[in-house]
Amino acid sequence: MMKETHGAQTADVARFTLPIRPDLVGVHSYGAPQLDVAARLNVNENPFPLPDDVVEAVTESVRSVVSGLNRYPDRDATELRAALAVYAGAETPARVSAEQVWVANGSNEVMHHLFLAFGGPGQSALSFSPTYSMYPEYARDTFTRFAFVPRDDEFQIDVALALAAISEERPSIVIVTSPNNPTGTVLPGHHLREIADAALAHGAMLVVDEAYAEFRRDGTPSALELLDQYPNLVVTRTMSKAFGLAGARVGYAIAADSAVIDALCVVRLPYHLSAVTQAVALAALGHARTLLAQVAMLRDERDRLFDWLVDEGFTTLPSDANFIMFSGVDDRDRVWRALLDQGVLIRQPEPAGWLRVSIGTPRENDMFRSALRIATGRSPVAHDQLTEGSR
Ligand SMILES: *Cc1c(COP(=O)(O)O)cnc(C)c1O
Repeated sequence: MMKETHGAQTADVARFTLPIRPDLVGVHSYGAPQLDVAARLNVNENPFPLPDDVVEAVTESVRSVVSGLNRYPDRDATELRAALAVYAGAETPARVSAEQVWVANGSNEVMHHLFLAFGGPGQSALSFSPTYSMYPEYARDTFTRFAFVPRDDEFQIDVALALAAISEERPSIVIVTSPNNPTGTVLPGHHLREIADAALAHGAMLVVDEAYAEFRRDGTPSALELLDQYPNLVVTRTMSKAFGLAGARVGYAIAADSAVIDALCVVRLPYHLSAVTQAVALAALGHARTLLAQVAMLRDERDRLFDWLVDEGFTTLPSDANFIMFSGVDDRDRVWRALLDQGVLIRQPEPAGWLRVSIGTPRENDMFRSALRIATGRSPVAHDQLTEGSR
């Protein structure tokens, strides 16, 4: 008689190892710390809660879709893409139609879709370091080769190096981040055009990541202005930063050519953007002016913090985003920790020796200033040196 077996053989259980993709073995997921401290200035969020009238409008908009949640959402997010086309179209002489707009769960997903459609085995992507740390991960996920061209001492893109790398590497995707994270620097318009020309000549997509566009200083151009000149141009934006909607996960792209959107439709998962997300984003866009009202204030706070850092003798860079990168501390680990001990969480970005602080509310920025003085052995900020806004 055969012995009846129940469950797995012990030897098999002992021998089993997860058949993880070989290149992912030992790779750990990385994310910035999410700590419940008084001043969370490490991931460039908008520090202000949504105003009451926007809370009302978003709640109403969500309420209107809840009973229909038994159905899949509009897979083409038709209404939202049309609204985004109007919003983005206001910044460019080019006509932007809904067919040129893509929307997904954060611009991270937009970028992932771009890598799925334009990257892949045998293809490569090129970017300019230091920059946003997620790009190599999209490349890894999609088996796309990834190459970095280092920025110069001022963290600007060296255009000669960029052009050489494009003709050597023959990437299918060139990513320019402007304003750049973590440096806050922007690519001047004439340099952007030179890179766009080279990408076009070599058959590459030019993806300009403008996650921080709304924070740029007056006179700083957007790549959207070039939309009707470069068929290979895609500009990505997000509602996570200026709109204060990081928790809603809404990012979008505007492509010069609607065929790009057709390609993204091929690789996205079915019904990738929930009806709830679409409802939230639509209501928020309807209140864009209210939501963006805080941007001017954050820009002022940023410029003031920049001046303060300079006055205090730190090394820093003018920023077109809602954060500032600075250096001039002996031991950044120790300073980062000393700030955290005082309830102020900031970021240790990629370039060694530098720190990055997001612009918070006036009160949070004051906390940062006094905590940084203490952390770097300066005397604490006297009360009369605090900014107007915090009193
Ligand atoms: C924050 C950020 C994003 C936005 O990510 P979401 O997925 O839209 O929240 C994109 N690019 C850069 C450079 C960023 O810093």
